[in-house]
Amino acid sequence: MNVTTRQNCRLCATPFDDPFLHFPRLPVAGVYLRKDELGGEPCAPLSVHCCRSCGLVQLAQEVSQDFYREYRFSGGHSARYRSHVANVAQVVQSLDLPAGSLIVEVGSNDGTLLRCMGGAGYEVIGFEPARTFDDDQPPTQVRVIHDFFSQAALEEHGVEQADVLVARHVLEHVSELDDFVSAIRQALVPGGWVILEVPDAVSLHRGGVVTNFLHEHNVYFTSATLTELMTRHGFSHVRSTWVEAHCGSILAIYRKDHTQATSEVAPQLAERIGPAAWTDFAWRAGTYLKSFGELLQSLRVDGPVVGYGSAQRTTTLIGMADLGEGALDYFVDKNPNHHGLYLPVVHRPIHSPDRLVKEMPRHAVILAQSFEEEIVEENEEYLRRGGTLVSTRDAAFRRIAAA
Ligand SMILES: [Zn+2]
Repeated sequence: MNVTTRQNCRLCATPFDDPFLHFPRLPVAGVYLRKDELGGEPCAPLSVHCCRSCGLVQLAQEVSQDFYREYRFSGGHSARYRSHVANVAQVVQSLDLPAGSLIVEVGSNDGTLLRCMGGAGYEVIGFEPARTFDDDQPPTQVRVIHDFFSQAALEEHGVEQADVLVARHVLEHVSELDDFVSAIRQALVPGGWVILEVPDAVSLHRGGVVTNFLHEHNVYFTSATLTELMTRHGFSHVRSTWVEAHCGSILAIYRKDHTQATSEVAPQLAERIGPAAWTDFAWRAGTYLKSFGELLQSLRVDGPVVGYGSAQRTTTLIGMADLGEGALDYFVDKNPNHHGLYLPVVHRPIHSPDRLVKEMPRHAVILAQSFEEEIVEENEEYLRRGGTLVSTRDAAFRRIAAA
């Protein structure tokens, strides 16, 4: 894996000004270590810029693509994630396409959406470089291509032009945006639909969630910057709605070569945020990160402290808050792909959440912030027996105990 640094905006090529956030050395999120790999974790600077010309928020750094061959994110383990994906499937169904229409999903991950669509009578193709799909039970009418999505891959794998292309949480990983959107264009029939889901930079700003900035997300779109990119490639904007996934995301629909009578943008996505507002964000983030370090120290007085959630944002938080080795005792996560592996820098293992009730550590700090409600519901027994879950959504660090 390589990390390279760019000097110009990915959308309009304007040279970068100074970053509003800069961390000289952060562990690269999404890397989990075996015990014999501890100390060998990749680290890199992370600098976040807001382009003064077009307003696109982006990192100067980018991680080479080979990293995603071993991508260990798998959302299908969360009930809320599955229900969100089912809503996206309903958006596809609301397009009223005839049976047998071809749906392509880019970044199909563990196949949660493919399963929904394959069962609804569509022809379905997923592009997924990582081998996370459960190949033991392939649903009918579903084909998974284990490759990166590109113009060359479409030709190589003989993919017909699709009626709908879905790319959920993919575009933010892309570095060469124009190449990628050209490939989307090539993949679609005239009048074909694109459904994109990306993290919403306005929500990120409003929520002050600094750990949403991580090496694997090169760009942070607003509804306006996303539409600027798509219209440049001959797509017309149909609708952008706000969805709760990943602390607030944009779910946007576009159509290829089709004059659109209406274009709707949800009110909470319409805000424009410039460089000055991001400087203010960075100041708030600094305060939050300092308080988080102090929180862990204060919880330690009561005994072992566990981190709940080991997804990418946990790694980023470890680095941004400058936590040292052993700052938390261990981590728990529902994703079995993480069990037995270690998080970088703190060098502590990840276990199944069952361990909380078995060992009853006094405090478990919720690092999977977007799943806080679900985590509280699922750990009733831990709370009832005297454990506390600590919210990290804001610097109030609310302690959640049994009612
Ligand atoms: Zn720009």
